[in-house]
Amino acid sequence: MRVYLGLGANLGTPAQQIVDAFDRIAALPDTTLLARSSLYRSDPVGPKGQPDYCNAAAIIDTALAPLDLLDALHAIEHAAGRQRDGIRWAARLLDLDILHIDGMTLAEPRLTVPHPHLHERNWVLVPLAEIAPALDIPGLGPVSARAAAAGTAGLRLWH
Ligand code: ATP
Ligand code: CA
Ligand code: CA
Repeated sequence: MRVYLGLGANLGTPAQQIVDAFDRIAALPDTTLLARSSLYRSDPVGPKGQPDYCNAAAIIDTALAPLDLLDALHAIEHAAGRQRDGIRWAARLLDLDILHIDGMTLAEPRLTVPHPHLHERNWVLVPLAEIAPALDIPGLGPVSARAAAAGTAGLRLWH
């Protein structure tokens, strides 16, 4: 099963947490990390006064079932120190989202795929377009076209 992931962090040392997360994803059972994007810096959304985000995207091949993959990603978030306080879009040490799974759509209580906000987030689309420009997501079309339409406002490479 080929899966496209979005990574984000804006507390601690964000770029280091993203790099560590790539390694932890690559170490998941029955999982191969196929591609990782550059690291991007984006303006935060949600509660005011948060630090900038570091964002990236990854492609994996995994034999884990979707909900098992979600649990594994939550475990990686937890290992990075993330605490879930129930405040939506609050600052966090690590956020790992499932953006898309090839040939699959899901609408389960714990997992919606494709990710419901993918189409409107340039900080997700631009990193994804770097590693999967031709990916055709149901209801969205090719990622490269979507990323171009989303633009680069508030988004730049992480230096
Ligand atoms: P957003 O969903 O807007 O990106 P968020 O990433 O901050 O917000 P979280 O608090 O990390 O939201 O996750 C809330 C719940 O979303 C998770 O517990 C998970 O069950 C659910 N969820 C639904 N679809 C997905 C998905 N495609 N990827 C990751 N989590 C998902
Ligand atoms: Ca998210
Ligand atoms: Ca999330």
